[in-house]
Amino acid sequence: MRDTVATIRPVAKMVRGIPANDGDGVKLTRIIGNPVLDSLDPFLLLDEIRSDDGADYIGGFPEHPHRGFETVTYVLAGRMRHGDNKGHRGLLTPGSVQWMTAGRGIVHSEMPEQQDGLMWGFQLWVNLPATHKMMPPRYQDIEPTLIPEVALAGGAKVRVLAGAFNGAKGPVADIVTDPLLLDVRVAGKGDVSLPIPAMHNAFAYVFDGEAQIGEPATRVARGHVAVLGAGDAVKLSGGPGRVLLAVGKPLNEPVARYGPFVMNTSDEIRQAIADYQSGRF
Ligand code: MN
Repeated sequence: MRDTVATIRPVAKMVRGIPANDGDGVKLTRIIGNPVLDSLDPFLLLDEIRSDDGADYIGGFPEHPHRGFETVTYVLAGRMRHGDNKGHRGLLTPGSVQWMTAGRGIVHSEMPEQQDGLMWGFQLWVNLPATHKMMPPRYQDIEPTLIPEVALAGGAKVRVLAGAFNGAKGPVADIVTDPLLLDVRVAGKGDVSLPIPAMHNAFAYVFDGEAQIGEPATRVARGHVAVLGAGDAVKLSGGPGRVLLAVGKPLNEPVARYGPFVMNTSDEIRQAIADYQSGRF
């Protein structure tokens, strides 16, 4: 009898995030959802905000709608005040994650609460399949203390936001694309290796320092995302550095995208705009 040997995914493509503006003049880096990397099914967008100049972020993201997908906000530093038209209110503090399922529609605002100091975090957009695009809106607001952190022998540390790693289960649950979302600290010694489903898509974004990713090991520097190729395992090493690793089940459905609405057809986009304009969200 012979064990099946895992195939570690190589780096298929490396892309540098592009400076962009969104909301009310917020300066950010668009890592996915830019002309070079349009999307990685089911991931539609990845933005990073990182600035200690309040002028870069204080305008925030005033009232705006979403329909047809999920927004994931992960805060590293600073505070983000959240509120929507269904009465949901929340304050995202450092280390917390919010997984918001917009479903059939919400109108919300996402506003940095502080005037100055470091604001650092991510927003990831995760698509919903046709069967779930019109589901009721839903929130999972996760406090920092509820996110398990796995410490490995070589010094690496892994925060498990969604999915499972080394027996630790992330607090985000019941997401249709079966995501794995990890915040991985590589420490220069040892490695972080894990099996992932062969059919899922995966990316690794280096947001601090550097990391060696995949096999053959490829050095990836801060500000770059590695899109992972075929295989059924991921390996991260090197560093010191910090990596956002995301893995999800592709939907393989047509994508009709218009600003904050992501549907399957242009008719559904027209309907979303009409519903929003007539106050049906
Ligand atoms: Mn939003």
